[in-house]
Amino acid sequence: MLVKYIYKFNLDEKNLMTKVAIIGAGPCGLSMLRSFEQAEKKGEKIPQIVCFEKQENWGGLWNYSWRTGSDQYGDPIPNSMYRYLWSNGPKECLEFADYSFDEHFGKPIPSFPPREVLYDYILGRVKKGNLKDKVKFNNTVINVSYSGNNFEITSHDKKNDKFSRDVFDYVIVSTGHFSVPFIPEYPGMKSFPGRILHSHDFRDAEEFRGKNVIVLGSSYSAEDVALQCHKYGAKSVTIGYRHNPMGFKWPNGVKEVFHLDKLVGNKAIFKDGHEQEADAIILCSGYLHHFPFLSEDLKLKTRNRLYPPKLYKGVVWQNNQKLLYLGMQDQFHTFNMFDCQAWFARDVVMGKIKIPNKSEIEKDINKWVSIEEKLENPDQMIDFQTEYTKDLHDLSDYPKIDFELIRKHFKEWEHHKVENIMTYRNKSFSSPVTGSVAPIHHTSWETAMDDSLKTFLNQGKK
Ligand code: FAD
Ligand code: NAP
Repeated sequence: MLVKYIYKFNLDEKNLMTKVAIIGAGPCGLSMLRSFEQAEKKGEKIPQIVCFEKQENWGGLWNYSWRTGSDQYGDPIPNSMYRYLWSNGPKECLEFADYSFDEHFGKPIPSFPPREVLYDYILGRVKKGNLKDKVKFNNTVINVSYSGNNFEITSHDKKNDKFSRDVFDYVIVSTGHFSVPFIPEYPGMKSFPGRILHSHDFRDAEEFRGKNVIVLGSSYSAEDVALQCHKYGAKSVTIGYRHNPMGFKWPNGVKEVFHLDKLVGNKAIFKDGHEQEADAIILCSGYLHHFPFLSEDLKLKTRNRLYPPKLYKGVVWQNNQKLLYLGMQDQFHTFNMFDCQAWFARDVVMGKIKIPNKSEIEKDINKWVSIEEKLENPDQMIDFQTEYTKDLHDLSDYPKIDFELIRKHFKEWEHHKVENIMTYRNKSFSSPVTGSVAPIHHTSWETAMDDSLKTFLNQGKK
């Protein structure tokens, strides 16, 4: 009799437990896992969590892959990072409030680390617990639908080629939005004799040594891919902007011209009359917010912007508040903003934060969207995203971090770039978590060809 009672109790408790699906174990998914772990450490009862990750390891874009196209199972490769990629913002601006760089590396390190160093840092705090047990690797979510009070998720276990269905109370989409390239077509591409690729498939600038390279775009990928090609020995780099030039003081061998008109043979002809022979065209034309696995009523549709509409506090799906999105914004702030979103999302799921009524939600979203639509320059955009992150920070117990210092750092960084695009990565900033000042790196970015963690951390080296 007693045994029967206990069995029934456990079963009921299990059935009553809220089930949460996290889709993606990149920086956003990891922030989410960390936020639940921290609540559990404080003695709170957390929901049952399953994190689906289509790659065989965690870390998202930071988990470098040599592959392009599709993987060994036919699934598209999400990775867009390349060899020799260094942080393009000061690491101090993305530092986790609950896990400083000093704590991870045991000493202050320079402000602009290469990818491998940041990857090591991102994983540092999640490796310490048993969070990996909550992740189903090599599992691609292929369908999410909502009916009754639940979500039904279909996932594909790629290794064993098995499909599973499961039911969840909440779904947190953290699949990133820099994985599915937007690929425009220009006249003459079909007959261009050289190579045409999107920055999503760019892996190694060495490939373009001695070549005439055309880079199309005027944002971060265009800027960095152009500089990478220059740094690793391209013969010439011609950047074609469409609307606004980046306007940096480019080094000799790099120029910025107005919009590609067409290709004639191997010649690129621009709308300002400029002509350039080309061996390769690299399309740095951005990415699509692409969620083929979500049913239509759940799908966020947006271009890359600082405040995608229909997301309350930038996180909760307006039409179904049990669906949450992390990291869908265009990004100045990254890891600590993802953390603030994750801590907020956790408290929504755990019922600690009450979502207001429909008209309040509408009002809050409209307020942010209308401010965002009036932003005119990078300083205003930085202010906007800092205010957004601070607003979220105030809603949870995410540890204290000096957002005013981060705001100041971002603006200084922007001005360093305008001063000299080749040297901004040699500067030093102070930590908003520990206050420690970063040492100057032993080698300037322009001449540092070895981007390994070992070389970067060896600050004794001259
Ligand atoms: P991602 O890192 O893309 O992770 C998403 C995860 O979801 C991936 O692991 C993917 O495999 C998984 N996934 C996707 N679909 C599914 C599915 N259907 N089922 C299961 N799993 C799925 N930010 C910086 O702060 N500093 C930088 O220097 C910087 N450099 C960048 C360079 C490049 C080239 C790019 C493209 C971005 C860069 N970023 C940088 C921004 C980057 O977006 C963030 O740093 C961060 O990676 C975003 O984390 P995320 O978790 O949202 O997305
Ligand atoms: P993005 O910021 O969304 O910019 C997309 C660019 O594509 C815009 O400049 C846009 O120009 C241009 N574009 C779109 N359609 C075009 C067309 N038909 N022809 C020409 N240009 C076109 O995307 P992103 O530059 O790929 O950056 C994505 C993320 O990666 C950012 O978060 C960035 O920080 C990160 N990143 C970091 C590094 C690093 O060094 N660590 C390097 C690369 C990227 P218009 O303005 O004219 O529309």
